[in-house]
Amino acid sequence: MAHVITQNCCADGACADVCPVNCIHPRPDEPGYPTSEMLYIDPGVCIDCGACVDVCPVNAISPDYDLLGPERVYIELNEMHYQREGARQYRRRRRSLPAREWLDRDAHMRVAIVGSGPAACYAAQQLLVQRGLSVRVDMFERLPVPWGLARYGVAPDHQETKGIIDSFERTARLPGFNLYLNTNVGVDITPEELANFYNAVIYATGAINDNRLGIPGEDLEGSFSATEFVSWYNGHPDFADRRFNFDTERAVIVGNGNVALDAARILASDIETLARTDIAEHALDALAQSRIKEVVLLGRRGASQAACTMPELLGLIHGGFHVRTCAEDFPPSDPDQSAKSPLERSKLELLQSLASPSDTGKCTITFRFLRSPTSILGGDKVTGVDMVANRLSPVGDGNLTAVATDKHERLDCGLVLRSVGYRGSKLPGLPFDERRGAVLNVAGRVTEEGTPIRGAYVTGWIKRGATGVMGTNKKCARETVSALLEDYGAGLLREPVADSASFAEFLKTRSGLASWRAIDDYERDLGRAKFRPRVKLVDRQTLLKIGCAAEETP
Ligand code: NAP
Repeated sequence: MAHVITQNCCADGACADVCPVNCIHPRPDEPGYPTSEMLYIDPGVCIDCGACVDVCPVNAISPDYDLLGPERVYIELNEMHYQREGARQYRRRRRSLPAREWLDRDAHMRVAIVGSGPAACYAAQQLLVQRGLSVRVDMFERLPVPWGLARYGVAPDHQETKGIIDSFERTARLPGFNLYLNTNVGVDITPEELANFYNAVIYATGAINDNRLGIPGEDLEGSFSATEFVSWYNGHPDFADRRFNFDTERAVIVGNGNVALDAARILASDIETLARTDIAEHALDALAQSRIKEVVLLGRRGASQAACTMPELLGLIHGGFHVRTCAEDFPPSDPDQSAKSPLERSKLELLQSLASPSDTGKCTITFRFLRSPTSILGGDKVTGVDMVANRLSPVGDGNLTAVATDKHERLDCGLVLRSVGYRGSKLPGLPFDERRGAVLNVAGRVTEEGTPIRGAYVTGWIKRGATGVMGTNKKCARETVSALLEDYGAGLLREPVADSASFAEFLKTRSGLASWRAIDDYERDLGRAKFRPRVKLVDRQTLLKIGCAAEETP
């Protein structure tokens, strides 16, 4: 018997930290970690103690005997990882802990963190648990509620993943932590003020913009970025006014990453399933009227290069959806057929096994491969997509790129979602890498022409671009916080100016944890009455009103 890691794995590695027999890999400090889609338990070493179960923030770990039906595929996936990678490499590795000699001194540091999503929370946690260091962490969030993408990005049908918020709540209870909500850095307070009042500022502002396709019709009514759709169904106050056209039989999603899969599931789910989640009420009402019968995901490359992770793909296929692919999208002569890794091969075989004609009465999710949109069609609103068939061609780095052929196709549809990756946006005063859509940095230190800017750090998507699953941010934050502590120890950070009365007054005017807790209770109460985890409040003024009332209550 052994324990097994399953679909929800967020790869934050808390399980590996407590495992007494070192059977969970790759750990965040091991070489395979950056490219691994999840962590795996070595069944030959696991002693079934269950320590990992208690610390997993997203309930992704179960004893093998508890797994039923399709879930049992994870027993095989965990086992396969060790056959593929070889378990011995892991057991030989020793964990090296960074030296922290300087922590003996009587240090007191003040750090501001801008943003309150997973990257920000992991950074706060890393700072607050340092032994020998007294630190005050002030977290600034522009919305009246915290937790960023954990609240507004994780799909509502992935409630277990939202369990990560409990671990952020634990961080928020650590001594030295303060939360300032409804505080927009750059509007309510300047970056210069933050730099003055803190030893260091960590920017964890994420990636709120989307990549563009650069094709005609991209801005037609009925064509949206996935960012807008995800934020809308998750009840983000800034996106509540969007109107999506569900009065159509087909929706096309460009891209096949995990965000595209999230959007496809929401479009194809039956309304009773969605009604048991915390999806925004406006989304539930609008989707209840949906006529969509087919959601088509367009991948510009082949099935083995599909950007979604295997756990998410398996979750979709075994989640009660009708998922299909098209036999013509698997040309035998294509280099795609020689998938590079065992994981790519499994993906290819799995997707190829789903090739079938569209026939069922049920809403279908169709994966198309080797297809790029060339134009979004329509007069005043979207009526279809023109696309071109691609072939794959090797590029220098061993990867395969899509090259257009002369074969064109047209697909009628009334809704297009462009899910081709997120981009960070420029932050005032910080050098920006336009190509990656991220702030220029080396290991989290913001740099200008290669030289670190004193006291300025980044973590999360604004640091490394929009890649990785939620737990990837833990390793990312660890790197940034290590750099910050190293600079602090080396005396490279400015001492903050003493608390000015006006700044202290300003902080007092901001809402904080008490406000969030009142909103949280309010939403959960509303949800209880409807057998839902919560009913999200989406109107900014209502959020502020309920939050502020709690702050004023003695
Ligand atoms: P992504 O994984 O980078 O996928 C982007 C997709 O867009 C790929 O299919 C890509 O194709 C395609 N694409 C890019 N440019 C294109 C173009 N010009 N024309 C056509 N297709 C184009 O991005 P994402 O789905 O937005 O996800 C962002 C990150 O969040 C990922 O790391 C993801 O794993 C993570 N995430 C995780 C979860 C989860 O764990 N449940 C949920 C949501 C998001 P190519 O592959 O050919 O470039």
